[in-house]
Amino acid sequence: MKFEKDILKLIPPPKQPPARTARRIGIHTSTAGGVENAAERAYRLGCSAFQIFSSSPRQWAPYDLSASQCETMNTLRQKYDLKPLVIHANYLINPSAINPAFLQKSIAAFRAELERALALCADYLVLHPGSFRGMTREEGLARVVESLSAAADGLNLNQRGLTILIENTAGAEFSLGGSFEQVGVLLHFLRESVPVAACIDTCHTHVSGYDITTKDGFRETLQRLDDAVGLANVPVWHCNDAKAARGSKLDRHEHIGKGNIGLEPFRWLLNDPRTRNAAFIAETPIDEPLDDLRNVDALKSVVSQEPTRSPRKKSS
Ligand SMILES: [Zn+2]
Ligand SMILES: [Zn+2]
Repeated sequence: MKFEKDILKLIPPPKQPPARTARRIGIHTSTAGGVENAAERAYRLGCSAFQIFSSSPRQWAPYDLSASQCETMNTLRQKYDLKPLVIHANYLINPSAINPAFLQKSIAAFRAELERALALCADYLVLHPGSFRGMTREEGLARVVESLSAAADGLNLNQRGLTILIENTAGAEFSLGGSFEQVGVLLHFLRESVPVAACIDTCHTHVSGYDITTKDGFRETLQRLDDAVGLANVPVWHCNDAKAARGSKLDRHEHIGKGNIGLEPFRWLLNDPRTRNAAFIAETPIDEPLDDLRNVDALKSVVSQEPTRSPRKKSS
């Protein structure tokens, strides 16, 4: 199925800035034609935050980034008040790889991700903690800490306002980060060497087995997250509905409100006072033209609080 997906070609620039909500909302946005175009797309979609790749997500190929492109990106972000900018790291990177050559390649690739994130003045770089196949889980977690510390060595992330986010995963066999406790352990040890926090994905949370679809389950799951990670340490949520059942460990993203999670849990999440400083980013498929716009609108529609006038500051 081939159709025009690019919002820049589908709708004209809005005459007035799109309506804002009390929560920062965005979507993973294409960088086609140059990384700076992602900011224009995010604006056109009515976002107040956005996420991009800075390399081809499933190849070892970084995107071209010139100083002028980074500058244009920055200017557009200020003009449109787009914050935070989240970069999602390449999926191939495995900071807990047992194979020494692959491990070195992963560390080098992650360092390059950090350097591009710094060049783009990104606020966050999201990483899946990888697979511990061939080791024990504890060895895997320890290796992640070593690898990320090595990758960030000497880069001064703190000073330059970049925080690494460890994302919870769908919990497939050998994957790290399938529970809040594992994410919490990683944060605990990584904190000594790098600025780090968590990105929690609603689809991964659901398919890894947590109940977020009933009111009681949602309350309990957020409590468990607060105990293991701390809700204040979750500056970014990935908002995806799930095609697969709870506990299935199958990571298939669905449109907001159209999957096994449904719309209500997003309403609870985006109106919880404890998530007030977080950004909510959809990573939903584009199956039909304007699906990206519809998913951003769906997230915005559940926020009941009025937006505040002054731009929100990032919590740290
Ligand atoms: Zn995600
Ligand atoms: Zn996913």
